Amino acid sequence: MKEKLYTIELHDALVSGDECPFCWLERKLEQAAIEFVLGSSYMESDTRDQTDRQGFCRKHTKMMYDYGNTLGNAWILKTRMKHLREGLKQQMEAFSPEPASMFDRWKKKEETGTSVGNWIRKEECGCYVCSRIDDTYRRVLDTFLYQVKHEKDFLDLVRQSKGFCIHHFADLVDACGRGLGKKEQDQVFPLLFDQMNRELERIQGDIDWLIEKYDYVNQDKDWKNSRDAVQRTMQKITGGHPADPVFRSRK
Ligand SMILES: [Zn+2]
Ligand SMILES: [Zn+2]
Repeated sequence: MKEKLYTIELHDALVSGDECPFCWLERKLEQAAIEFVLGSSYMESDTRDQTDRQGFCRKHTKMMYDYGNTLGNAWILKTRMKHLREGLKQQMEAFSPEPASMFDRWKKKEETGTSVGNWIRKEECGCYVCSRIDDTYRRVLDTFLYQVKHEKDFLDLVRQSKGFCIHHFADLVDACGRGLGKKEQDQVFPLLFDQMNRELERIQGDIDWLIEKYDYVNQDKDWKNSRDAVQRTMQKITGGHPADPVFRSRK
C-alpha cells in the first residue's frame, strides 16, 4: 500500500512563519491526538486497548490533565492501571534477588538493572500520544524527500521559511542523508546548512539585543524583534513552543 503523503500539511507548515515547520506540525498533531483520545475515542475498545498498553509519557500525562476531561481521564487511567498492576505483579512474583558481582558493578546502569526495574522502564518508554505524533512525523519527513525529488519549486518554499529548530534539524539531515541521491544531496545540503547558519545568526541577534535592551542607555531604543526572543531561542534550541497557553478543552 502506498503511504499517504502530507504535502498540504508540509506546505502549510513551511508558510506558517513558525521558527520550525516541524514544531508547528508537531503542535497540531499533539493537540489533535489529545483531543482525539479525550474526545469520545477513549470509550472505543481498540483505542483503549492501545492506551492501556502504551500509556502516556510525563509530558502528555500533564497535557491530558490540563485538557480537562475528568471522567475521560478516569476511564483511561482505570484500565491502564489494571494493565500495569497485572504486569508488575507478575514481574514481582518472578523476581529473584541476585547480589551484584564485582563485574556487574562495572557495567552500565541499563545492563545491571533488575528485571522489575527494567520492566518498568520499558513500560515508561511508550506513549500513545508520542507514538501517534511520531508515525505521522516520519511520513512528513518522507514527504519532504518526495517533494525535493518531484516538486521543482519546493526548495524555494524551504528557502523562504525560517529554517528549523536544532532538535528537528537532526532528523531532517538524517532523512536527507538516507533518502536522497548524490545529486539531490549536493543541492539540498548547502541550501539547508546556509539557511541554518543564517537563521541561527538572526536568533542570536534577537537574544543579544534583548539583553542590550535591559541596559538603561538603550531603554528608549526600539525592541526590534527581541520582545519574544527568549521563547523563540528556546524553541530554536530544543523545539516546541514554551510560551504556548495551556491547551484546554473548548467544551
Ligand atoms: Zn522544531
Ligand atoms: Zn508522549
